[in-house]
Amino acid sequence: GARRLEGLGVTIFSEMTRLAIAHGAINLGQGFPDFPGPDFVKEAAVAAIRADLNQYAPSHGLPRLRQVIARSFEQSYGHPVDPEGEVTVTTGATEGLHAALLALVDPGDEVIVFEPFYDAYLAQIRFAGGVPRPVTLWPPDWRFDPDELAGAFGPRTRAVIVNTPHNPTGKAFTRDELALIAALCQEHDVLAITDEVYDRILYDGAVHIPLATLPGMWERTITLNSTGKTFSMTGWKIGWAIAPPPLTQAIRTAHQFITFATATPFQEAMAVALEHAAESGYYAELAAAYSERREALRRALELAGLPVLPCLGSYFLLADASGLGFPDDVSLCRYLVTEVGVAAIPPSAFYADPARAPVLARFCFAKRLETIQAAAERLARLP
Ligand code: PMP
Ligand code: GLN
Repeated sequence: GARRLEGLGVTIFSEMTRLAIAHGAINLGQGFPDFPGPDFVKEAAVAAIRADLNQYAPSHGLPRLRQVIARSFEQSYGHPVDPEGEVTVTTGATEGLHAALLALVDPGDEVIVFEPFYDAYLAQIRFAGGVPRPVTLWPPDWRFDPDELAGAFGPRTRAVIVNTPHNPTGKAFTRDELALIAALCQEHDVLAITDEVYDRILYDGAVHIPLATLPGMWERTITLNSTGKTFSMTGWKIGWAIAPPPLTQAIRTAHQFITFATATPFQEAMAVALEHAAESGYYAELAAAYSERREALRRALELAGLPVLPCLGSYFLLADASGLGFPDDVSLCRYLVTEVGVAAIPPSAFYADPARAPVLARFCFAKRLETIQAAAERLARLP
C-alpha cells in the first residue's frame, strides 16, 4: 500500500467484532445498537424507495433534508443556519470529516486533537497531509490542562478537532472549556471542526453546547453530525457538515469528488425522521432509554468489581480494570473476549502512543437490557 497507510492495519472495531463472533462473545465492543431503529424511520425509507427517489441526489444533499437540518439546529441551539449556503449532506460524519480535512488542511498543517480521540481522526488528518498534535484529556473527568492546550497552538496550526459528547470517555465539554478553545482559535486564527454525533445522547441534565454558537466562532467552525446514533441506524450513513458559506463551498468542492452524493431514499427518510423527532418528544425518549441502559451496565460492571468512570454523554462506559492486574488494556480486552465471553474496546486504540493509555475498557450500552443482563452474568464470573 501507499505510505499514507503505514501503521493503519484493521480498525479495533472490526477486529473486536471479529473476535466476538469467533468466540461467541456478547459484543459490547463496536458501538452500534443491537435493537431495531424506530418504525417511523424504517417506513419513511420504504416509502421513499417506493416513490422512486432512487437516482442521484443533488451533490450537497436533498433540499428537504438540508432545510430540516438547519431548522433543527436553530431550534435546539439558537443559531440560524442557511440550508442553501451552510449545510452539506455527507456519507456519515466520517465522510464529513474527510471532506472537511481535505478541503481545509494543506500538507504540513497541524491539527490539534484531544487524546483519547476517535480512531478515524489520526488516519484522516494524515490522508490530508496534516500533522496531528495531541492534547491530553486526564481521567477521571477528562479535563485538559489549559497550558498544554495553549502550548499546542502555533504558527502551523490550521484546525482543532473537538468531539463532544466524547467517544470513548463520555465527557461533555463544558462552556468554560469551549470558551477557552474558542479564545485560542480566534487568537491564532485557527478553524474548529466539531464532531457532535452524540448530541442527543446526554445524561444527568448535561446540555450540549455547539462550539459554533460561541461568540466569534460561527465563521471559523465546521459542525459535523449524523443520524446513525440519534436514530439507531448506523448502517445508513447519513451525516452532514454545517459551516459558514466560504467553508461550505470548500467542503462541497471536496465532497463532490469523494462520493458526489449520498443515498437518496435514506436522505429522504432522515428528513422525515428529523421533522417527526422535533414534534414528538423523540429526543427525550432516546436519552431516557439510554439512561436506563447506562445504569444497567454500570451496575453490572460494578458488581463484577469494575468501577466505572463518570459518563455524561454518548453510549459508552469506561471501566477501571487496574485491579485485575493486566499490564495493558489490549491484553485485558483479549482476556475478556476469549475467556469471559464479553467484547470491549481497549481505549489505547484512541491514543497516538498506546503506551500512554490507562488500563481501562470501553463497554457499549447501545444494547437491549437482556443483552446487558447476559453480559452481567458472564462478567460476574470474573475472579
Ligand atoms: N465520530 C464519533 C465520535 C463516532 O463515535 C462515530 C461512530 N462510532 C463517528 C464519528 C462515525 O459516524 P458515522 O457513522 O456517521 O460516519
Ligand atoms: N464509532 C463506533 C465506535 O466507536 C464504531 C464505528 C466503526 O466501526 N467504525 O464503536
